[in-house]
Amino acid sequence: MLILRLLNVVAPVYFLCISLVTFILQLFLFLPNMFKDPTITPLFSPALLHGALFLFLSANALGNYILVIQNSPEDMGTCKNAGARGVGTPSEWPEAGRKASSSSQNTHFCRLCARVTLRHDHHCFFTGNCIGSRNMRNFIMFCLYTSLACLYSMVAGVAYISTVLSISFAHPLAFLTLLPHSISQFFSGAVLGSEMFVILMLYLWFGIGLACAGFCCHQLLLVLRGQTRHQVRKGMVVRARPWRKNLQEVFGKRWLLGLLIPMLNVGSDYPRHKGK
Ligand SMILES: [Zn+2]
Repeated sequence: MLILRLLNVVAPVYFLCISLVTFILQLFLFLPNMFKDPTITPLFSPALLHGALFLFLSANALGNYILVIQNSPEDMGTCKNAGARGVGTPSEWPEAGRKASSSSQNTHFCRLCARVTLRHDHHCFFTGNCIGSRNMRNFIMFCLYTSLACLYSMVAGVAYISTVLSISFAHPLAFLTLLPHSISQFFSGAVLGSEMFVILMLYLWFGIGLACAGFCCHQLLLVLRGQTRHQVRKGMVVRARPWRKNLQEVFGKRWLLGLLIPMLNVGSDYPRHKGK
């Protein structure tokens, strides 16, 4: 439990550090390098388009990240609430939550958040919050835009490295052999420390981008089936419904606007908990 609590703190710090490093590299290294091209007029420079696209992707990733944290799933009672209501002793409050969770198939008691949540999916360590009915749409959007921002940063980084080190990425294996080649060149003094750092970041962006894309697709598949990860893990049977209805339940009526800007899940068909 101590390790999980530690992970709940370390993972968001890790995410914010990676985001900060990505911002600094994009705004102070990749973008200025693009503006150096003398053949392009400043007004129609691809660097401006690149900057606007990167800001759009990162604003959506960070906006949805904040909304996932702000919109906790419907709270069916916390340890503190149980204590305030005088239900049980402090040592019994988690047990009260577990009993409540077993009483309904759609609820689950999360020991890290210390509360019973409605339509629980899983506990996300990167946001330090439970994912459920209210923030599922924002969570999927967060995964999607984090994946796009990472893969886009990787492409911009590859363009920067190919310009600075005069490396061609035309060969399909060039990206795979870049790391061993650059490590040997770094120790021989041919590659600077800052360039080596960018090369390492390329692999990190690639890994995070693929992981988030996979996570997003898996989550989307579960939404289409009308399932949560918690139900899959417990082997619970869900009633068959049309996939359009399942999708609308999570994405709401303003789904198109929600794809473009980070916004609250207005118009969702999920029942709201009146006690909140
Ligand atoms: Zn939780």
